Amino acid sequence: PTAHSAILARTRGIPMVVAAGPGVLAEPEGTMVALDGGTGELAFDPDPDTLDRYRVRAEARRRGETAARANAGRPARTRDGVLVEVAANVGSLADARLAKSSGADAAGLVRTEFLFLDRAEAPDVEEQEAAYRGLADALSGRRLTLRTLDVGGDKPLSYLPSAHEANPFLGLRGIRMSLSREEMLRDQLIAVCRVAADAPVSLMFPMVSTVNELVAALGVLDDALAHTGGPRPAGLQVGIMVEVPAAALKAEAFVPYVDFFSIGTNDLTQYTLAAERGNDTVARLADPLDPAVLRLIDVVSQSASGRVDVGVCGEVASDESAVPLLLGLGVRKLSVVPTAIPMVKQAVRQVDVAAAAKLARKALTASSAEEVRALVTSATGHGPA
Ligand code: PEP
Ligand code: MG
Repeated sequence: PTAHSAILARTRGIPMVVAAGPGVLAEPEGTMVALDGGTGELAFDPDPDTLDRYRVRAEARRRGETAARANAGRPARTRDGVLVEVAANVGSLADARLAKSSGADAAGLVRTEFLFLDRAEAPDVEEQEAAYRGLADALSGRRLTLRTLDVGGDKPLSYLPSAHEANPFLGLRGIRMSLSREEMLRDQLIAVCRVAADAPVSLMFPMVSTVNELVAALGVLDDALAHTGGPRPAGLQVGIMVEVPAAALKAEAFVPYVDFFSIGTNDLTQYTLAAERGNDTVARLADPLDPAVLRLIDVVSQSASGRVDVGVCGEVASDESAVPLLLGLGVRKLSVVPTAIPMVKQAVRQVDVAAAAKLARKALTASSAEEVRALVTSATGHGPA
């Protein structure tokens, strides 16, 4: 569910089920298939009753989404008045436009890779600046959170040849790659700083494991600022993605250097459970509701203790039934696929933070993701997918 192909399908609102096994390929061409992308259920050649049940569910879902869209432009407050930012994950200019029309409060994660993939050379500073300005314009004053280039591992670039790696997800990716190509990082940061002078921009570094990496990246940011000739733009916030367990456990040590933590549960889950996110044979293990992942989120939230903002930008944030759990763990920003914004805002409005905190405490001591789901279902009436 967190492979990049699944994220692309979710962004386009295409229902998708993964890891259904090789048996699906044996079904003859033209077979009617009913699927529920929310629950992961799949029925081949369904009888009329089954088909009806899926249709009724789909219709109820559509009605819920239409109702939610009517309130999507308003801020999301919990029942007890806690304001929660519901932002969008963006991977193109079209996504940024969709984010605004879907009611996003901000762009909480811009995957800047979209500018760098499928081409023969890296975009220069001017091209990047124009692209980031385009995103900022599309968001009409909403905050733009630009993640620096997150390639390597599963996302190789032809013009950045890297040595063969036996385990690319444990290799030179994210900030590790950027720090090994300082000029490229500096160019990207120059473009970010130029746009940050005119629009509310946050900058975040992916795949950070050590404070030294962040300090090195901040050094490159200083170089970029010196190059632009101006002081650090007043509105520029700096943060890290927390997606390596080591960073989560050391969150306290990062606090003095950042304005925010954005928890990338897609990678955090794969590294915590040692289950690669693109490998369907271990997809069941890579569950963001595993209590071990929740405990890491809790550590980040407790370490931040109100001093820096804590958000979640992994796919679990788009699952409205996981919202009480995340808010109960102290998360106050959710960044989700644009199409999920209306429903996630509605989910926030159902939450009572004190009750959610109790639910979260119980979930932390659960022994499995299934137990966590059962707890959420008994507390809210519907469980996370
Ligand atoms: C994540 O890892 O949770 C995340 C949001 O980043 P990406 O999916 O781009 O790796
Ligand atoms: Mg990630």
